[in-house]
Amino acid sequence: MRISHLFTKTSKSAPADEVAKNAQLLIRAGFVYKEMAGAYAYLPLGIRVIEKIKHIVREEMNAIDSNELIMTSLQRREIWEKTGRWNDDVVDVWFKTRLKDDTEVGLGWSHEEPIVEMLKQYVHSYKDLPISLYQFQTKMRNELRAKSGIMRGREFIMKDMYSFHTSADDLEAYYNRTIEAYKRVYDRLGIGADTYVTFASGGAFTKFSHEFQTICDAGEDVIYLHRGKNIAVNEEVIDDAVRELGISRDELEQVKTAEVGNIFNFGSQKAEEMGLDFVDADDSAHPVFMGSYGIGVTRVMGVIAEKLSDDKGLVWPEAIAPANVYLVSIGKDDAIGHADELYDELQAKGIEVLYDDRDVRPGEKFSDSELIGIPHRVTVSDRLIAENQYEYTERVSGETILLTREQLLAKLS
Ligand code: ATP
Ligand code: MG
Repeated sequence: MRISHLFTKTSKSAPADEVAKNAQLLIRAGFVYKEMAGAYAYLPLGIRVIEKIKHIVREEMNAIDSNELIMTSLQRREIWEKTGRWNDDVVDVWFKTRLKDDTEVGLGWSHEEPIVEMLKQYVHSYKDLPISLYQFQTKMRNELRAKSGIMRGREFIMKDMYSFHTSADDLEAYYNRTIEAYKRVYDRLGIGADTYVTFASGGAFTKFSHEFQTICDAGEDVIYLHRGKNIAVNEEVIDDAVRELGISRDELEQVKTAEVGNIFNFGSQKAEEMGLDFVDADDSAHPVFMGSYGIGVTRVMGVIAEKLSDDKGLVWPEAIAPANVYLVSIGKDDAIGHADELYDELQAKGIEVLYDDRDVRPGEKFSDSELIGIPHRVTVSDRLIAENQYEYTERVSGETILLTREQLLAKLS
């Protein structure tokens, strides 16, 4: 992509009302646009990051035999009344609206109930199970406070997955496979080492749910961590967990974290409430066992922007960077011709390039490349071309070296 074709521009400052570092950086660098508190548009650079996160999540969900679909944002009131969750005192984040004929509908904040209702049409026999389904969907939540930038949106992208089973054992086995799949996701996203499987509230069948909590100063959660035993507990269940797990509170370290994922074992409760049954081999009917598994796609992007940035700007890990290489040309015809040619060659090799082909000062190109946070920068200048050399700078370390064309291509491939 040529920067001259991008409609976004970098800026020195973020909107005065934006207090979160992740959003400040993402707005300044042209990844997101703030529509209002908790609602952000994703611009061309931002979309590339989102799509790469989704790609990783999609590969790992497909690898555990889940199938992708897209549910609707408009939801029926009757479905949520079956479990008592239409009630605003029970679910305090509902956005609700009305159709022209006055029918009340909800805007999806979760899809647990609608997916169970849908499956009543497709699941009848034990032969129809197990099933796992997932989607990437924009969830709508009327959050009280939305001060954490894209880490807490009033609309945000979630990957939500739901699995359905004939027995508690089969559900538990799948639940554990999902934990491993989630670990691979966070590893590939570059935050695996700082992300802990954490005991949390909200299990129905089991006492605890499991959250994936990433150490992050800007996070809104607090967990207690036993690094030696690799045990993490959300503060909301610390008293219960200390009792159940036989650990003592003063062995634990308190850390600030952001919840990047959450998985639940509902047992057969949801199916009982909603009437999703299957007929077993012996002709007896039973409620279906269900698990629910979320990843906050846009929150993950915000957490990575917070954690991996420095005083110069964003620092994307290779796996989700909007491009691999930031190409800068300095000088007149010679440099531009060489840079054009290198741009084509790199792209032909499948290396994604953000090409700063603007007619602006070199200093501006360099500082923008740092703000945008592309992993590798290559500078083509009149002076260096004469010596068959290219300047290469690594974003994360800031180190600059001179390379021949052959060395450069080897490094980037
Ligand atoms: P929180 O406690 O942060 O409000 P939650 O427990 O209500 O989150 P879940 O319903 O478990 O969230 O949603 C699954 C995942 O979606 C969360 O683990 C989180 O990563 C993400 N998420 C939830 N709410 C938001 C939000 N308002 N903005 C961005 N991501 C969110
Ligand atoms: Mg949660």
